[in-house]
Amino acid sequence: MSDDCIFCSIVAGDIPARTVHEDSETLAFLDANPLAPGHTLVVPKAHHQHVEAMDDDTAAAVFGTLHEIVDPVQEAVDADGSNVGINNGEASGQEVPHVHAHVVPRFEGDGGRPIHAVAGSRPDLSDDELDAIREDIDARL
Ligand code: 5GP
Ligand code: ZN
Repeated sequence: MSDDCIFCSIVAGDIPARTVHEDSETLAFLDANPLAPGHTLVVPKAHHQHVEAMDDDTAAAVFGTLHEIVDPVQEAVDADGSNVGINNGEASGQEVPHVHAHVVPRFEGDGGRPIHAVAGSRPDLSDDELDAIREDIDARL
């Protein structure tokens, strides 16, 4: 637990939240400032700032909870779909430094954008550049 982390305080029960799911490793609760009805956050109970900091079991537990709640969340608000995503690091827009996956219900004609809209202008990468990036990632795995 991190002393000055809002989500650690929610996990500890020191700050109230509208919890929709709890198990030994994760908590899911409604976002306090929702982008859509049913906007839900899934957090690991352990404090990790970034996705890459989570251990394998914690990462799997977060995705397991996402998998479990997406359908009930969508059905509860009669949504047509949802965006599921994580702002990972300040550069991506992460404001609360405790890993959290957003489930944002979506509705036909709601005027929202797909997840492709989160980045800036698309880079114009050649095949060679794409190959080099793939090789670089592969070498680090
Ligand atoms: P981020 O930009 O870090 O990915 O998103 C943080 C999210 O946490 C925002 O959608 C914000 O509305 C939500 N949030 C911030 N503080 C609280 C809180 O105290 N309780 C709840 N339930 N959500 C919060
Ligand atoms: Zn925390």
